Amino acid sequence: MAECIEQSRVACALGGIYTALAIDGVLPVTHTGPGCLAQASDILGRVNGGQAPVPFEESVVPCTDFCNTDVVFGGGEHLRTVIEKSIEYYDAKLIIAVDGCTAEIVGDDIEEVAESFEGSRIPVISAKLPGFVGNNLFGHSQILKSIVNQYLEPTGEVNPLQVNVFGIVPFYDTFWQGTLERLEELLKAIGLEPNIIYGHGHGIENVKKIPSAGFNLVLSPWIDLDIAKLLEQKFKTPFLQFDNVPIGPTETTKFIRTLVEYAGLDQVKAESYIKKSEDRYYYYISRHQAFVYACKYIPKDFYFIGSAAAAVSVTRFMVNDVGSVPLRIYITDNVPKERQEDVRKSLYDVELEDKDYEVIFTEDGGLAADDLKKEHEDRSVVFGSNWDLLTARSIGSAFVPVCAPYGQTLIGSKNYFGYEGGVALFSDYYAEIATNPQVAFIG
Ligand code: SF4
Repeated sequence: MAECIEQSRVACALGGIYTALAIDGVLPVTHTGPGCLAQASDILGRVNGGQAPVPFEESVVPCTDFCNTDVVFGGGEHLRTVIEKSIEYYDAKLIIAVDGCTAEIVGDDIEEVAESFEGSRIPVISAKLPGFVGNNLFGHSQILKSIVNQYLEPTGEVNPLQVNVFGIVPFYDTFWQGTLERLEELLKAIGLEPNIIYGHGHGIENVKKIPSAGFNLVLSPWIDLDIAKLLEQKFKTPFLQFDNVPIGPTETTKFIRTLVEYAGLDQVKAESYIKKSEDRYYYYISRHQAFVYACKYIPKDFYFIGSAAAAVSVTRFMVNDVGSVPLRIYITDNVPKERQEDVRKSLYDVELEDKDYEVIFTEDGGLAADDLKKEHEDRSVVFGSNWDLLTARSIGSAFVPVCAPYGQTLIGSKNYFGYEGGVALFSDYYAEIATNPQVAFIG
């Protein structure tokens, strides 16, 4: 019997439309069954910090509502009509026609339908997002590839200071919006001109500028490396990979120095920024020392269950800046086999002598829950998604949510990026340890 996955932390490939929806002015038109989008909207949106796309929220995303007639006679013409009406009624800058499982199975040619709108008021491109091929990370990659291959044109100029930012998956990374805003500030402060395509104040004009960049920055252990390579091939733009979204002083300072060296930036300016930011970080941490020492017990280790991207960021911070040790790390977002070794290396690249913790790649969040219930260290901490809250409580551990599905709460602009993010995660971590009535670690 096939393996059954419990407690999924990812959506199907159709979840890739959230990458399109994160770019202001981009409207996906879905050629799928009527319930397909709802499946993705919980994990990536509503139950992931109460997020919804702006301006095109889920309820206004056009859909062909693929039905029996489309299965029997083909749904290409149906899709064509929905795109025609979308062009008539929507104020969008780019339409991406996407399909799901059924349209792929019956063989509807969405590429041909999209191409037939050449010269229309709103440009139309297409992306194939069948859930049977992959999860929302595959869908995210498909959307970006479609934009690069079908929409981007060479600009004929290169701005050496312009840096396009990749590696953060909007919506799936619960903290994406706040992270990108803080990252933009940091990049400007050290002399770069960040070009970010997702979120507030960005959008399709930034997408068009992608080919002008001096370099592409990929902030992840593996996500978007395919896009950076595609852009290198198409526009000869080199790329720099930093394997995580830095949290806290150790990683953030390393990140800045890596950028300074790579892009030949003003070292004095960058070092002055680092000094000011580190001083501020340690000032805030010192303010909480009395509270931390009042805890009856300070956990010395932790479990992690969730995405590879969050795992690397949190593990680096917890080991290098907080002094905690991972016990076991479960990566639940189906990292492709050929990328798993890179992720593993990133997870062991920490300032620790004995690295005897296990890294387990599994899509089955239920397996992690079972493992922990059978065998665990007492009074440790679990970092993960909302799925892991009850597991943590059942083994008497503290719990800190750090990835999707984050839970039914409002995320606002919260994030753990950089020096400031380190203070925020430090505070959330000790607040949970000290004040949770079940864990009751405070004296
Ligand atoms: S797996 Fe296929 S049928 Fe299911 S929600 Fe995703 S696209 Fe729709």
